[in-house]
Amino acid sequence: ISPLRLEPQASLPLPMDLYGTARANSSGRDLTVVAQRDELLAAHAACVVPVVAEAKAEDATGAVARAVAAFGAWNHTPVAQRAAVLRFAADALDAALPRFCTLLVKEAHKTWGDAVSEVREAVDFLRYYANEAERVQAPQTLPGPTGESNTLRLEGRGAWVCISPWNFPLAIFMGQVAAALATGNTVLAKPAEQTPAVALEAVKLLHTAGIPADALQLLHGPGETVGAALVAAPGVAGVVFTGSTQVAKIIQRALAAKDGPIVPLIAETGGINAMLVDSTALPEQVADAVVQSAFRSAGQRCSALRLLCVHEAIADGVIEMIQGAAKELVAGDPSQLSTDLGPVIDAEAFDNIQRHVARLSSSAKALLPEARPAQALPNLVPPQMFEVGAIAEVTQEIFGPVLQVVRWGGDPMDVIRQINALGYGLTLGIQTRIDSRAQALAAAARVGNVYVNRNMIGAVVGVQPFGGEGLSGTGPKAGGPNYLQRFCAEQTLTINTTAAGG
Ligand code: NAD
Repeated sequence: ISPLRLEPQASLPLPMDLYGTARANSSGRDLTVVAQRDELLAAHAACVVPVVAEAKAEDATGAVARAVAAFGAWNHTPVAQRAAVLRFAADALDAALPRFCTLLVKEAHKTWGDAVSEVREAVDFLRYYANEAERVQAPQTLPGPTGESNTLRLEGRGAWVCISPWNFPLAIFMGQVAAALATGNTVLAKPAEQTPAVALEAVKLLHTAGIPADALQLLHGPGETVGAALVAAPGVAGVVFTGSTQVAKIIQRALAAKDGPIVPLIAETGGINAMLVDSTALPEQVADAVVQSAFRSAGQRCSALRLLCVHEAIADGVIEMIQGAAKELVAGDPSQLSTDLGPVIDAEAFDNIQRHVARLSSSAKALLPEARPAQALPNLVPPQMFEVGAIAEVTQEIFGPVLQVVRWGGDPMDVIRQINALGYGLTLGIQTRIDSRAQALAAAARVGNVYVNRNMIGAVVGVQPFGGEGLSGTGPKAGGPNYLQRFCAEQTLTINTTAAGG
């Protein structure tokens, strides 16, 4: 079996296979070779994507009632036991890596490299939240006056609705569900319509691991009907949502309009992610970071680079290098190991991107005008790059491999102010050789994740907790130490220890 390397052009010191590379990326652990190319390809050949049954909006109320009824028993299951179930699920998912990769390649058009990274991320979420639940739900003794004992306890809140997008149909789905379950909540999961099979397999795996059926229910179907009905159903204790800013606001309004208790919403949404490049930056490093951040995964990452703000002194050289590197990327069939970016998720996404490309073609300078996909597959979008006149012109997230470039001169702080004014706040890249400038610009930026002198696609669980500000979300950051608390109800217990029986 010959090992497969993710980056054939890079001279890596060790021969690594897909799995080894992703393992190192995802959790910084050793580069053990676990799955080989032939194993993945055999699983792919044997993979049949299952057909799922769609729910109806009327199903939501009954499902939520069952989740509410299941809450007591699951919440009273000791946290160590819940954590053990999630760790068992993590091991099972790890072992089922080839199967889940093939589903991600077939259903979500992921490349093999992206698929392996995603399975690893989902495994990491399960393990991380298992550990975190044990940490945050351990009773805490608080300091207080003599004659009194004070403790703080965190418990599950009830039935949570987990609504996830198609672009990370396993990792984001699993992250939401694992966070809610680890803390003692029950779950109504509504995955994206485009990627139901990955979610179905993930739920089967969790049930097999020991999550009770009513504590985790899966409802497929359109967001506007099934998703909206779940949000509106009586008894929902919280909603965790990842997707577009527009839908997050619809859900926020629906929750505000409900009778009864105030229902918390955790929303992680889109971004117009910028990279600021100053005149001291290293052009080769910038070009590599731009290509990785803007075009890999067909630009279908919420963290992807959308707006390159490059200093006029080095702009020509940087643009030329990006053009050269972008032309080397292979847009084609994702099941081919040589493919760098597969088709975008569906015809609707393709048409939407084409509308933006047509608008930019008539108003901006095309910097990759002859870009063509390698194969005539449906919904393939080759990398595209346009030079626009001003940061303020970039007002919408284009969810594909389309980069807009602006040249700037003068004060870099002014560039950050203009980026802040766009209102989003997910990721920001800074490329400079002046450390103090990087620190000052990062501090002035209203974004959740800043990456200096590297690409912008790292959101390693427990290492780079991920989430944005403003139009990009509510926080707290997924995969970070402050996330699980939002899924919990907090109670303090104060006892007068001087009283009779105290
Ligand atoms: P989307 O908002 O269209 O859909 C997301 C989910 O919401 C789907 O499951 C959908 O069925 C559901 N939904 C739609 N309308 C609904 C409604 N009225 N009520 C309840 N649920 C409803 O997003 P998408 O196209 O699936 O995903 C792409 C978007 O997600 C991009 O904007 C991207 O930036 C964002 N995203 C953000 C993050 C992050 O961590 N910040 C991560 C991944 C994706």
